[in-house]
This record gives sequence, C-alpha cells and structure tokens, in this order.
Amino acid sequence: MKRILIIGVTGSIGRQTLDVAARHQDDFIIAGMSAHRDEAGLLAAAVLHPHASLCLSGIAPVSPSVQYSGTEGLRNMIERTEADIVVNAAAGAAGLLPSLYALGSGKHLALANKETIVMAGRLVLEAASKAGKNILPVDSEHSAIFNMVERFGRRSVRGVIITASGGAFRDLPVERLQHVSPRDALAHPTWNMGAKITVDSASMANKGLEVIEAARLFSFSSTEIQVVIHPESRVHSFIRTLDGSLYAQMSRPDMRIPILNALSWPEVVEESVADMDPSDIQLHFSKPSPERYPLLVLAYQALDSGEGATAAYNAANEVAVQAFMDGYLRFTDIPAVVEKTLEPGYPSRLENLEAVAAADHLARVEAECILKEYR
Ligand code: MG
Repeated sequence: MKRILIIGVTGSIGRQTLDVAARHQDDFIIAGMSAHRDEAGLLAAAVLHPHASLCLSGIAPVSPSVQYSGTEGLRNMIERTEADIVVNAAAGAAGLLPSLYALGSGKHLALANKETIVMAGRLVLEAASKAGKNILPVDSEHSAIFNMVERFGRRSVRGVIITASGGAFRDLPVERLQHVSPRDALAHPTWNMGAKITVDSASMANKGLEVIEAARLFSFSSTEIQVVIHPESRVHSFIRTLDGSLYAQMSRPDMRIPILNALSWPEVVEESVADMDPSDIQLHFSKPSPERYPLLVLAYQALDSGEGATAAYNAANEVAVQAFMDGYLRFTDIPAVVEKTLEPGYPSRLENLEAVAAADHLARVEAECILKEYR
C-alpha cells in the first residue's frame, strides 16, 4: 500500500489522481492533499479521505479541518505527512519548491509540474539523487520515454521523438491565427486539460517546455530530440535505440495511465481504461511547421543557450499567455514577447535556487515591459 500526497488536488491531474486511487484502493491510500485557492473543492475531495492532511496554499482557509495554509504550511504538510510519494500537480512556477520539499523529505516525486524541470532541472535531479528517490514523470510523453528508457537502459537509446497533437489550430490557415480568441484556444482536439496548458498546446509552447524537460530529465541534447505532430494522440512518444529501431508507447489519450504508471513504478498494475485496438484507428505523423509554431523553435534556441534561457522562456511565456487570456495580446504576439524577452541573454548555468529565481524574475519584468507596447 503506497501513501500518496497530492499537490494541486482540485486541478485536472489532481482529480484524475484521486480517480486512479479510487480505482486501485488496495494499492494506494491518500495521505494528504493541497489546493491553492479552491477550499470547497479541497473539502469535497476530503470527504472520501477523512484521515488525509489538508492544506490551502494560496489563501487563509475558513474550515478548521484544513490544518495547513500558505506556502510555509504547504512545506510543513509535505515534510510532516507520512507519505511514500508526492504527486506534484501544482500549476506553473509555484510548483518548483514543493518538488524540492518532497525530495528533501525523502519522498518519491511523481511530477506533473513541468516547470520544476524546465526552471531547475539539474538542481532537482541532484536533490533526487542525494535523497535516493525517483522522479517519476506524469506528463504522458515523458512517462512514455521514462518507461522505455528505464527498460532499455539509457545507454541503448540515442534519441527520442516526442509526439504533439498540434493543438486547437492545427488545421487553421496560418494567416488566421492572429484573430483567434482565448475561447477558440481552449477547444483542444484530444486531451482534456487546464486552461493555460491548453493555450500552450495550441501554440506548442507546451511542446517546447516538454523538449526542454526531456533534455534535462534524460540527458539528451537538442539534436537528439525531435517533435512530430500526431493528431490522434495514441503514440505518446518514441525512443530510437542505437540500432536505429523506433519503439513507441501507445494507449488511448487518458492521463490516468501515466498517473498510474508513476504511482505504481516499478510495478505494472492492471488497468483497462486505455485499452486500444490498433485496427480501430489510423495513425498519422508529420513535421511541425516553424511558421505555425515559432514557440517550438524558440524552445530549441533557449535549450541551446542554457539554463537561464530556458527559465526565461517559461517565465516570458507565462506572462504572455496571461495577457492573451486577459484579452489584450494577440495569440500570434505571444512568440514575439517571448523572443524579445530572451534577447538580453541569461546565464548558461543556474547554480542555485536564488539564481533560478533571479532569472525567472528578470524575464517576468522584461516581458511585462515588452507587453506595454501591446496594450
Ligand atoms: Mg504532455
């Protein structure tokens, strides 16, 4: 029986983690849960798990059953709750510290927060190896790569191909992209996800972050990582072994599979939600066009520039996406804001958390400043 602590329990991954635990009650028990601001959602989730510790990290809780609150409360809950594995499904840059608290307190980390790796991959990997704990990717692509790389051995793998759905505007003529609204962006063809990641999926900034994440998690250079558009979202990634063979991991697009894989690793637990019959579906693959997806190109450039640039890429994109959601930046201006933010240059190595925070902060200030030209 594994004890699980979920950070971000009211979001899409958090709720699906609860569902996985409910479907596998002999394997998992919920030891703790946190939400950022949704106290009602947190309390609703707690009804089925009366012994779980609860934390509201973003605002003061009203209910006395929420024992922990604030950023410090989240840290205390992670450190004091007896758990085997922390599922980090926090949104955005705020997910970095909880990842480090989890590893620092001797828990495995099931990681859905890609910013943790994009901002501070080397520091987090060092923390995991120091603690002797695993980082188990929950992102479907990295879960696929992790499962294949672990089974083949990293030395037998010479590259990876990450699949991308292409997002909501995959088939829209490029010249019409400038007119799309946040509402258009939120209609994702295959995956059901949160708002920010759905916009990032349409722009492929999400895939850019995933390229960076794969580079850091598995030590691949930018030339060893390829992205292909695969509209059916059945192949979650490929690995290329030394002999030139490609291996793919496939299932229906259902996040409960990578979540279950992360929770049960290294065991493989029985589950049928994602069973698929290959004769039911045609699979297509194509190259992403740089004109349609400039944010993917910028991610590769940031990866080649180093750790400061990848942190800045993430920060600038967060600021620009927020402006788009608020309705005063066009979808096609998101990459321009990110590109300009990256121009001044950032340190190629971020030695500690202070350096990570400084690069993140500098990029946000820079991006906000650039945004003024668009208001
Ligand atoms: Mg993904």
